[in-house]
Amino acid sequence: MIFDPVTISGFSSQETPFYYYDLTLLHKTLLACKSASDKYDFHVHYALKANFNEQILNAVKNAGFGADCVSGNEVKKAIEIGFDKAKVVFAGVGKSDKEINEALDNDIFCFNVESVQELSIINELAGKKNKKARIALRINPNVDALTHQYITTGLEENKFGINQWELTTCTEVLKQSSHLELIGIHFHIGSQITDLDVFKSLCVKVNEIHNWFNDRGFQLRVLNVGGGLGVDYHQPDQNQIVDFEQYFKIFDQFLERRPGQEIHFELGRALVAQCGSLISRILYVKNGLKKNFIILDAGMTELMRPALYQAFHKIENLSRRENSNTIKYDVVGPICESTDCFGKEVELPESERGDLIIIRTAGAYGEVMASGYNLREHVKSVYSC
Ligand SMILES: *Cc1c(COP(=O)(O)O)cnc(C)c1O
Repeated sequence: MIFDPVTISGFSSQETPFYYYDLTLLHKTLLACKSASDKYDFHVHYALKANFNEQILNAVKNAGFGADCVSGNEVKKAIEIGFDKAKVVFAGVGKSDKEINEALDNDIFCFNVESVQELSIINELAGKKNKKARIALRINPNVDALTHQYITTGLEENKFGINQWELTTCTEVLKQSSHLELIGIHFHIGSQITDLDVFKSLCVKVNEIHNWFNDRGFQLRVLNVGGGLGVDYHQPDQNQIVDFEQYFKIFDQFLERRPGQEIHFELGRALVAQCGSLISRILYVKNGLKKNFIILDAGMTELMRPALYQAFHKIENLSRRENSNTIKYDVVGPICESTDCFGKEVELPESERGDLIIIRTAGAYGEVMASGYNLREHVKSVYSC
């Protein structure tokens, strides 16, 4: 348990539910990632979609990271916060003309292009502005990320990226596109990847595709291998900070890098997941014959991952001693959906109305996915310093 009694009594005076961010842990995590990546001169862009809370974004920016955006508004937000435009990249399978135009106006570093048709559109829009857009091709390498099917993105059946059989067409389009400058290739095969061998397979595939481009006379300045590094949802206290050293070392060992070439990463979850928790109060306890339910004042409207991806989050009762009598509960929210459940058969101390419950490892894809379904209020945030 990372929370001392003073912090918990601080929680008691707050209206629930709320997100609690441990900014000290965030700083430590950012520092660990930065020093591990600096060792190999790797560039890391933070994936804003994991958490675009301003306090988090400021911390990430101040630690020297770039920004990986997947919408026009994320590009705007990154620039507003003060991320260096030369470190802003824009991916997404469906960029609208408006979004492309705004990104062109902002002279962002690079568009990660996800289809042949998108190439022509960016060329046309850049032409109208008499600009040259820097682009990288997001290629679908058909590497299985061995993660949940809903967060797998690098298989041929997924909607993301350009398939390898389309690369010849891409190079033909590029030769005729005077307003595009190909600077690199980009990959992002999925999220919450915990089997690091997956990244070795990715490196092998990147090398193969890299060579394909070299053989056709394209010199690539950037190899962007995306993000996806997973965190430990089951043991958040034992593994607060991901082993970044081990992760980056794999790319140093297995990725073939030409002199002067930049290696880019786009990490989201691994940087922000462990610093955030959702704090909620028990509204009701229902003891049944077959099941016992804890009904919280937080639901899928505050944290959607369990309902959306069948995701696991560690749940603890902050108001009870851990060594007291335990009972198995289904921990559910108040929303009118059966998937509004944070955990089934969770072993917890015998709990009562009013107890504070903490749902751990909720800093990534938590608050950003909050919705107003059931006309719920937007969830609040509290920060440690
Ligand atoms: C979501 C996303 C990321 C970040 O993924 P994590 O699993 O949070 O590291 C990186 N790149 C792209 C293109 C993404 O869509």
